[in-house]
Amino acid sequence: QAKKNGRNTFCLFSAEIENAVNFRTALEFDLRKAIDRQEFYLHYQPQVDLGGRVIGVEALLRWQNPERGSVAPGIFVPVAEAAGLMFAIGQWVLRQACEQSVRWQLSRPDHPLVVAVNVSAIQFGHSEFTTDVSEIISRTGVNPALLKMELTETMMVDDVQETVEKMKILKGLGISLSLDDFGTGYSSLSLLKRLPLDQLKIDQSFVRDILVDASDVAIAKSIIALGSALNVDVIAEGVETLEVRDFLASIGCLKYQGYAFSRPGPAEQLQY
Ligand code: C2E
Ligand code: MG
Ligand code: MG
Ligand code: MG
Repeated sequence: QAKKNGRNTFCLFSAEIENAVNFRTALEFDLRKAIDRQEFYLHYQPQVDLGGRVIGVEALLRWQNPERGSVAPGIFVPVAEAAGLMFAIGQWVLRQACEQSVRWQLSRPDHPLVVAVNVSAIQFGHSEFTTDVSEIISRTGVNPALLKMELTETMMVDDVQETVEKMKILKGLGISLSLDDFGTGYSSLSLLKRLPLDQLKIDQSFVRDILVDASDVAIAKSIIALGSALNVDVIAEGVETLEVRDFLASIGCLKYQGYAFSRPGPAEQLQY
């Protein structure tokens, strides 16, 4: 591409690469100090059923840096992964979420909430992952039945046997497992059948335009059918309006997460 467009384009192109590399290096430098400097915190977004009852929350990582301000996880999580920082950050997230779960459990024993935590592929692939998870569970005293992990299809492609084994260990600890951003990856049906999943999470890219896009409707319907065939729960993310919620309900999706119900926010602001 660069060659075809001549020398100037090539120079511009390499300058862009250089900028991108500098950006990542600087970000990585700041990320390395972020845990110690207590720049991370969690927001929680409710997950609701058809009646609007809050059945759980998803923990979402936030990074507030004094110079950069607030940096979105879509930006820094991939950098942290590439820099080998996501194992430590992920364990920090899990510990915080477990501690919060214990607080909710104490304040509202009548209304159990399932706390869903995102797990990155690098974190999941770490040899100490399940040992650490089990340690965090016992140290925090969280009820593992109220803990869910959101995995992605990218972590299912490498060594399927090993992935399934790890998932079974997590299930054995009492944790439930959801497949996040479902439909954006490469899972085959035969792979899915082997995974000990509890939930498929319809990616927001299929939800956003579902009222006007016939192919999104077809995709959502097939995920819902797949969920019932595999006997797993289905939840839709990115539900921004009640019209979308109603449509999803009409095709058989009964759990939702999105701005229609609440934006992610601090634990103290959760109303349920
Ligand atoms: P995700 O796990 O798919 O999380 C859902 C994202 O959609 C969140 O973005 C959430 O704020 C946003 N969202 C929720 N409702 C709506 C809606 O109605 N409309 C729209 N347009 N967006 C909505 P966020 O918090 O920026 O996180 C982005 C991604 O960063 C997450 O996607 C997840 O992949 C990653 N991430 C966040 N926290 C963590 C974490 O603790 N660990 C790991 N490994 N990844 C994380
Ligand atoms: Mg998620
Ligand atoms: Mg998602
Ligand atoms: Mg997503």
